[in-house]
Amino acid sequence: MLKIGLTGGIGSGKSTVAALLAERGALVVDADRIAREVVEPGTPGLAAVVEAFGPDVLTADGSLDRAALAAVVFGDPAARARLDGIVHPLVRARAAQLVAAAPDDSVVVQDVPLLVETGQAGAHDLVLVVEADPETRVRRLVGRGLSAEDARARMASQATDEQRRAVADVVLDNDGDQEALAAQVDRFWVDQVEPARS
Ligand code: ADP
Repeated sequence: MLKIGLTGGIGSGKSTVAALLAERGALVVDADRIAREVVEPGTPGLAAVVEAFGPDVLTADGSLDRAALAAVVFGDPAARARLDGIVHPLVRARAAQLVAAAPDDSVVVQDVPLLVETGQAGAHDLVLVVEADPETRVRRLVGRGLSAEDARARMASQATDEQRRAVADVVLDNDGDQEALAAQVDRFWVDQVEPARS
């Protein structure tokens, strides 16, 4: 099995790269998706969040009110740490379960937005970092429905390109069009993934 950690700042193009790698046969484990699954109604994760932050973080139908929770932890590092302390271990455990269930010859790509921030670089055979110019990222995120202000605030709270670069085996430059990105993913697959598997 070849384990690839995929990371990059918000809006850099991680999901796009993950989809391109999936087309080439990789099994993608998406940390953001898992982070939503572990706090779905009826999960121990949601129960732990409610125990920590109270029933006001639930909507009327009993699901997690993300906006309310975000308001509670915004600007409160201790609350943020408490939330991360609940969610991050659950996400890692679920991701590890999915990786363990994959066939031995799989190329497993873990899309981990906070790979650098949470110190997970060492858990992968290869770390693939996607980069794009900050203004390009804001423009693309606005195209995805985020406000420019929100996009910039999230970018500021994440690791820097330099910090991601420091742990990268390969850096993909996503300032060009989708075709240019796909060509880099192809090169990565041929130059790094195929040799590592054989
Ligand atoms: P991330 O997962 O890192 O937050 P995404 O892959 O979702 O980033 O990309 C952010 C947005 O930019 C998406 O709407 C995506 O379709 C778009 N996008 C990604 N790469 C390119 C590109 N090379 N050219 C134009 N749009 C792109």
